[in-house]
Amino acid sequence: MNEAETSSAIVCAECGAPGSEGQASCPRCGGLFEIRHRLPEIEPAALRERFAERRTGRGPLATSGVWRYRELVAPALPREAIVTQGEGNTFLYESEALGRWAGLDGPVWLKHEGHNPTGSFKDRGMTVGVSRARELGAAAVACASTGNTSSSLASYAARADMKALVFVPAGKVSAGKLAQTIALGARVLEVEGSFDTAMRLVLAATERLPIYLLNSVNPWRIEGQKTIVFELLEQLDWQPPDAIALPAGNLGNTSAFGKALDEAVRLGLIDRLPRLLPVQAAGAAPFHRLVASDAERLEPEPRPETVATAIRIGEPRSWRKARRAVERTAGRTTAVSDEQILEAKAAIDAAGIGCEPASAASLAGVRALVRSGELAPDARVVCVLTGHLLKDPDAITRYHCGPEPGPHANPPVRLPAEPEAVAAWLAKELG
Ligand SMILES: *Cc1c(COP(=O)(O)O)cnc(C)c1O
Ligand SMILES: [Zn+2]
Repeated sequence: MNEAETSSAIVCAECGAPGSEGQASCPRCGGLFEIRHRLPEIEPAALRERFAERRTGRGPLATSGVWRYRELVAPALPREAIVTQGEGNTFLYESEALGRWAGLDGPVWLKHEGHNPTGSFKDRGMTVGVSRARELGAAAVACASTGNTSSSLASYAARADMKALVFVPAGKVSAGKLAQTIALGARVLEVEGSFDTAMRLVLAATERLPIYLLNSVNPWRIEGQKTIVFELLEQLDWQPPDAIALPAGNLGNTSAFGKALDEAVRLGLIDRLPRLLPVQAAGAAPFHRLVASDAERLEPEPRPETVATAIRIGEPRSWRKARRAVERTAGRTTAVSDEQILEAKAAIDAAGIGCEPASAASLAGVRALVRSGELAPDARVVCVLTGHLLKDPDAITRYHCGPEPGPHANPPVRLPAEPEAVAAWLAKELG
């Protein structure tokens, strides 16, 4: 066995007991598993150089924004198992206008994960999870989803010739995501109930049947999602920002960010930790309540409700890992109303960037934290935009064209097909 093959272990993130691939959680304590790597023994400068060189290299592994960092993701995975579509490599916007909008003195940075192959950050975790499933010889993979995990799973499973089964809350998945999932060939089970019900059902199903579970309780997905952080740090020349804000639902991403930052510091890639700022929707904020109240256990929200369907989750699975991530980075949680989310989305959209509703929670959260004095206006902040604008066209139509349009609505205009009418309208538009 070579060194690479011994360099990753699955262990319980809570009690350290060795884990196994077939279990969703630790039989001893109920904790989730995580992957522990033997981190490469290499000078940080040399490691940074290696990552940078690959970006200009050829071939799918070099050009993927996940597999460029493979030493820190899945060093032992055989290359022939890897299913990639060049995920990652997403743009980091710098916006003065949105920085001002959020109450900051300077610009805000927006890492747009909607620019992934299926339009959300889920592809970064899925390339790793499906590759691992292929290495294990899985014939079928499954997840519960609010829509983006299912789209991503459908795509990667099809690329790997595996059967994809997805459990979604009936009537609570946006049109773009459901259409994408069906088109990409996954079998969809619409569950009567919330995401949390779907999650319970898929856990029960994968316990009984030889189906590989690919929710973010799967520790390999977390490894892939860490690369959002590695890539944004690299884009900032490894000068860490003061804070990273992200929308928080099932808390897989918050956990991944915490692990990535921890490893980046241990490797010497960065010398200080940015604060993590997970933002929840007010109607689905059990994690924010947990952190704010310093309670021992997460109290699930029985009826989660928000326009941001991607984070409409009442019983987030990764709350223990996510709480550690917030504590270790001296972070802060916050909750924002649907109105605040939709206003932030309208601002991001009008800036020419665009994102789905849940993504805008990050910027809405930054604005709220600046207002409450919990975040200094001179902070350098990166907001992660988790999903693409086109994922949820109904939310856009409601805001701009609905019976109760939002304050920055931009509905289309209909005129008689006559040059005079058009000229009069244009004269008014151009002032
Ligand atoms: C999945 C998802 C989230 C939430 O991420 P978690 O890891 O579940 O906290 C946020 N935004 C979008 C667009 C998503 O698809
Ligand atoms: Zn345990």
